[in-house]
Amino acid sequence: MNTQTTSKKMKNKVGFTLWFTGLSGAGKSTITDILEKKLKEYGLKVEVLDGDIVRTHLSKGLGFSKEDRDTNIRRIGYVASLLSRNNVISITAAISPYRDIRNEVREMHENFIEIYASCPLQVLEERDVKGLYKKARSGEIKQFTGISDPYEEPLNPEITVRTDSGTPDQRAEEIINFLLKNNYLETV
Ligand code: ADP
Repeated sequence: MNTQTTSKKMKNKVGFTLWFTGLSGAGKSTITDILEKKLKEYGLKVEVLDGDIVRTHLSKGLGFSKEDRDTNIRRIGYVASLLSRNNVISITAAISPYRDIRNEVREMHENFIEIYASCPLQVLEERDVKGLYKKARSGEIKQFTGISDPYEEPLNPEITVRTDSGTPDQRAEEIINFLLKNNYLETV
């Protein structure tokens, strides 16, 4: 049971980045939306860099080759690091499939919390919320992470949330509890 997050207001002791990684449909955006809302309700400054949204602005024109994916992630990492350096909480929700680039953006940060949204591929294909897996299997979408493009699981993420069970709300609570327990956040 959660008793820690009943306070109405919270303070962040430092700026930090919550860096989601995980396959398409694993729940990165869903949990990010919930976290953003909750953290703002607690009075905190939050910015979200969502993979799909970033690709229409910051990374417009980039494709899905390794090089373009890496560029996209480096840009997101750079912006997130600027924000968190200025005491903002940034949340990123891009697939970020490559371990070396995730580690590179980790190095740009003082406070980097990698969150692995973990869900078996089979479950994601059954859910197929956006119909993308079907298209990837049929070859209509090329270079699709997990099907025809690599995904490298994090080896030591600060947090792993299983998204083949539980609710997105529960997972968001788990993350907030981690932040309280590890002194990133405090109730005021
Ligand atoms: P991503 O951003 O990783 O591509 P989305 O957040 O767009 O994924 O989609 C995840 C889907 O999985 C949503 O439809 C969400 O409701 C569903 N879902 C079911 N259980 C969970 C859970 N425990 N955590 C997160 N998402 C879940």
